[in-house]
Amino acid sequence: MDVTQSNPCTGCTIDQDCCTHLSGLRLTQLEFNRCFKQHTDQIVVEREGPLVVVSQQEGATCPNWQNDGCAVYDARPRECTLFPHTLYVQQHRDDSVSVHVHSDTQCPLKAQLRSSQQEAEQLAREFAEEAFGAATPIRVNHETILQLLRRRGRNLVSRVLDVLLK
Ligand code: SF4
Ligand code: SF4
Repeated sequence: MDVTQSNPCTGCTIDQDCCTHLSGLRLTQLEFNRCFKQHTDQIVVEREGPLVVVSQQEGATCPNWQNDGCAVYDARPRECTLFPHTLYVQQHRDDSVSVHVHSDTQCPLKAQLRSSQQEAEQLAREFAEEAFGAATPIRVNHETILQLLRRRGRNLVSRVLDVLLK
């Protein structure tokens, strides 16, 4: 099967950056087993609680990026399906979880490709329930401006610390 057949992104002007510069894709264990377990020699794997976080190795692409398309497109992880929406996940001390859905990404087709807010939040909830368990209190919302500023602030601090600690 032609893996580009159902890919709407063949006109991407930033060279499919989301798949060719894979960085910090969050997965449930089931998604990892389904799409990435067979590629552990080609990726960097980290853990955030029950989430599996994968990034490509230097000079490589997502290992599922083959023949200019996603080889697991019909079974791809939810964060890939959601894109150009993406998720910011916070685990709180009381074991509850907040998932903020946002589209603060570089995707040039985001206005065209973005699913509705309601669909995105539904998929984000399914993701969180599979990852953390249906008994976990989970709040899903579209990111507010205040939450966006806080997230950017945390990311900046984290990047500065990475540089300082190298
Ligand atoms: S989702 Fe956006 S960034 Fe990714 S390949 Fe498609 S157009 Fe490009
Ligand atoms: S699994 Fe597929 S859609 Fe997701 S990053 Fe890899 S190539 Fe792209």
